[in-house]
Amino acid sequence: MAARHDGAGGGRLEGTASAFKPGVLTPVAPLVRRLVAPNASLMTGPGTNTYLLGDPVVAIIDPGPNDAGHIAAILAFAPQARCVFVTHTHADHSPAARVVGERLGAEQIGRLPPDDGRQDLSFRPDTQPVRDQIFDLGELALKAIDTPGHASNHVCYLLQPGGLLFSGDHLLEGVTPVILAPDGDMAAYLDSLERLKSYPLEQIAPGHGGLYGAPMQAIDAVIAHRLTREREVLAALHAVGAVSIDALLPQIYRHVPTALQRFARCSLEAHLIKLERDGRCRQHGLQDAQDTQDTQDTRVWSA
Ligand SMILES: [Zn+2]
Repeated sequence: MAARHDGAGGGRLEGTASAFKPGVLTPVAPLVRRLVAPNASLMTGPGTNTYLLGDPVVAIIDPGPNDAGHIAAILAFAPQARCVFVTHTHADHSPAARVVGERLGAEQIGRLPPDDGRQDLSFRPDTQPVRDQIFDLGELALKAIDTPGHASNHVCYLLQPGGLLFSGDHLLEGVTPVILAPDGDMAAYLDSLERLKSYPLEQIAPGHGGLYGAPMQAIDAVIAHRLTREREVLAALHAVGAVSIDALLPQIYRHVPTALQRFARCSLEAHLIKLERDGRCRQHGLQDAQDTQDTQDTRVWSA
C-alpha cells in the first residue's frame, strides 16, 4: 500500500532505479544479494525483492510470485540453496516457494496461510518458525521474529551477524503498509512494531524497494503515522455520527489515488476494528446511518 507517511523515518541507502531491474542480481550487503521479480505495480513498487543469502547461496527469502522467468533466475543463481524463507503468504511473496523448494530439495520455512481469500494457499511450509527461532546457515544465521499485523502470519527475519532485518511488508521505506483487515490487525501491527524495537536492528531490507538505515526512527515514524490516522478516524466519527466505511473513506483517505482506494478501505476498517476493541467506537445497524449509499457492507460505525 503506497500511502506515504510523514516524518523523518528512514535513511536511504540506495537511490537508482536501475538497481531494481528484474533478473539482475544486486549485492546489497555482505553475503546478501537481491533479485527483483518482474511484478512492478502501484502496490508492489519496483517489484518484489527476493533475497539470496551466502556465497554460494544457501538461503532464499521471499521467492516471490509464480513467474517462470523469476523462478528460472532464482534456480540459476541459487542452485545450492537449502532453505526457502517466506515472510508471509500474499501473492507477491510466496507462490514461487513451492516450485523453488521442490526443484532444489530445499526446506520451506514460514507460517501456514490463513484462508481469507487473499493468501497463497499453495504454500505448505516444512517448518513453521517458533518465536525467535534461530536458523543456522553456516557463516550466517537468521532469527525469525513474529510480526503479525500486515498479515496474521507475517514473520521478519533478522540476519546475524550484521543486524539486517528482512522486513517483508511489515516495514517499507516511506510507505505505510496496508493492513488487510480482518486477517490484518492494526493493534497487532502496532504491538509488532513496538516489540521490534527491542531487537538490535541496523538496517532494513524490505520486501519492496531499497535498503534503508535508521530503523528505530523509521519504526517510530510508522507508529506516529498510524496513531495520527487513528485520531483522524475518531475525529471524523465524532463529527458525522453513524457512518459506513465507504462514506468515511473519502474523508480520511482523500489524497489516495483511486486505484489504491480499496486497499485504503482495508486499513480504515482495521482502524475501526481496533477503535471498537478499545471501546472508543462501535458498529451497529445500517438503518441508523445518515449515509446509506453503500449496499455491500451493511455495517455503520459511530463514536
Ligand atoms: Zn503483503
